[in-house]
Amino acid sequence: MNAAIRIAMGMPKPAVLSSFQAEGVVVIHMATMIRPDVPILFIDTGYSFKETLLFKDKLAFKYDWNVIDIPVEDGPVCCRDRKVVAFKEAIKEYDCYVTGLRRTSSPSREHTPIMQWQNDYTLLKVNPIADWSKEDVLKYLSLNDLPQHPLYEQGYASIGCEPCTTPIKPGEDERAGRWRGEARVECGIHETES
Ligand code: SF4
Repeated sequence: MNAAIRIAMGMPKPAVLSSFQAEGVVVIHMATMIRPDVPILFIDTGYSFKETLLFKDKLAFKYDWNVIDIPVEDGPVCCRDRKVVAFKEAIKEYDCYVTGLRRTSSPSREHTPIMQWQNDYTLLKVNPIADWSKEDVLKYLSLNDLPQHPLYEQGYASIGCEPCTTPIKPGEDERAGRWRGEARVECGIHETES
């Protein structure tokens, strides 16, 4: 078992933050093997693909995962108000959270640590599969008979909100389809001070 996920699940109040992509399913599976009732936080921006919402609900039912939909409030700055503010509010009651971030998914994530203390949230962020390849993720899913988000079959490689996500072309990095044509590469949740 992954050492980082063991440490995270040994904390008094851990959570998993997931958008139910392949990496998220891996870390949820790892976490719930140790702590079956760990809260799994899903930020429902109101712009999620219907496929994502159905996939999330299907997995939560099938595996009896404790998925908590985080409600968001509308605001003038999409992403900041619909994601970062909602996340900051939701995470207050936890002392640690786990993500499925991977270094090789994008240049913006190449320095992702396995663990990092976040001063701005006052909690521990754990990225237990930061050093995994995409192949490692697919192998884990296959070995554990875990399903994949249905939009991967349609050329999507990283899946966020529907208005800001497109499929990728051969040779592009996995997150190239996010906010295509814009300068930003992250929503803000993973750009916090460490
Ligand atoms: S990804 Fe797009 S739709 Fe979703 S919160 Fe950010 S700006 Fe809004």
